[in-house]
Amino acid sequence: MIKTDVLIIGAGPTGLFTVFEAGLLKLKCHLIDALAQPGGQCSEIYPKKPIYDIPAFPEILAGTLVDNLMEQIKPFEPGFTMGERAETLDKQEDGSFIVTTNKGTEHHAAVVVIAGGLGSFEPRKPPISNIVDFEDKGVAYMIKDPEVYRDKKVLIAGGGDSALDWAIFLADVASEVSLVHRRKEFRGALDSVEKARELAKLGKIKLFTEAEVKTLYGDDHLEAVVVKHNDAEKGETYVEVDQFIPLFGLSPKLGPIGDWGLEIERNAIKVNNAKDYQTNIPGVFAIGDVNTYEGKLKLILSGFHEAAVMCQYAYQIINPDKRFVMKYTTVGGVTGFDGSKKEAKKEVVQSIS
Ligand SMILES: Cc1cc2nc3c(=O)[nH]c(=O)nc-3n(C[C@H](O)[C@H](O)[C@H](O)COP(=O)(O)OP(=O)(O)OC[C@H]3O[C@@H](n4cnc5c(N)ncnc54)[C@H](O)[C@@H]3O)c2cc1C
Repeated sequence: MIKTDVLIIGAGPTGLFTVFEAGLLKLKCHLIDALAQPGGQCSEIYPKKPIYDIPAFPEILAGTLVDNLMEQIKPFEPGFTMGERAETLDKQEDGSFIVTTNKGTEHHAAVVVIAGGLGSFEPRKPPISNIVDFEDKGVAYMIKDPEVYRDKKVLIAGGGDSALDWAIFLADVASEVSLVHRRKEFRGALDSVEKARELAKLGKIKLFTEAEVKTLYGDDHLEAVVVKHNDAEKGETYVEVDQFIPLFGLSPKLGPIGDWGLEIERNAIKVNNAKDYQTNIPGVFAIGDVNTYEGKLKLILSGFHEAAVMCQYAYQIINPDKRFVMKYTTVGGVTGFDGSKKEAKKEVVQSIS
């Protein structure tokens, strides 16, 4: 059982910044995310796009924003359960919660913060009748640890950046990499397309374009796939593989959170925005894109503000007998759980009279 003060569901920008705000109040955080990497929509949908409305950053790439948030929260040593979806929420007699993931990992916390954005991203699965039989037995829809594929025969399907980038990366890790795409042209970044074609020429990637994976074979584990070519003359190719990774993108769904007894309005969680962003379940907060209230703006800066407010109230739940006095970071500095310090600087402020 993982124990923490504040359990955050969703490691998007809102969830990540919550770690910082909670850390200032000496509250320890743990994050759960269904994706393999942190950053939510910023990492998954638009890492290379510039954002122009983050205060004090005239322009910042979404991916860089996530990197900076990860750097900012490092001193507060958050825990991560990545690649797992929060499935159930059970309130305990003492008011605390146990949240269990789809993989059975249990987390115990006094306060739960839902920062689930558009919901958990569910992989788009190709229409192959027996694909579910091979899930976790040779079929995976995201790559969490590339080392799993070392010296294995891997077949990736898809035509976007994920499929190209992983095919290129695994060319140096796996014993054999095949890339199957149903069209002739790829949708990914031009340099990735060129690199993949270059590796294909060198024989490091087997490229099948205008083709689709149709059938999977194996007993307890995947052993082979059949690739069907659009060109009837080329027919079908039988490819022996250990791992099949369809990377067809992800679609967001509020998912299991919708069954937790929370007040939901148009696929978002209603909160008390006049006070603390708490939901109808005391001790459960909802912040960022996942919540709704009158005047809600689904922007990154809204999530940051809501995190700051919400943490003050989480502190009161966790420390009912202590009074908290807010200090500016310029006054109190930042002291990480690792003992690292960013001291407040006492400087003489000159006043102009
Ligand atoms: C193309 C595009 C451009 C955008 N441009 C801007 C912009 O310029 N400026 C701006 O302010 N905003 C922009 N946005 C919106 C911005 O990305 C969102 O407001 C922001 O990502 C919300 O952050 P969040 O942390 O609340 O949610 P998200 O980023 O959606 O992260 C939520 C995380 O929760 C996880 N999750 C959900 N449910 C579960 C569960 N049950 N178990 C485990 N994990 C779960 C998800 O996997 C996800 O990683 C843009 C969005 C898009 C798509």
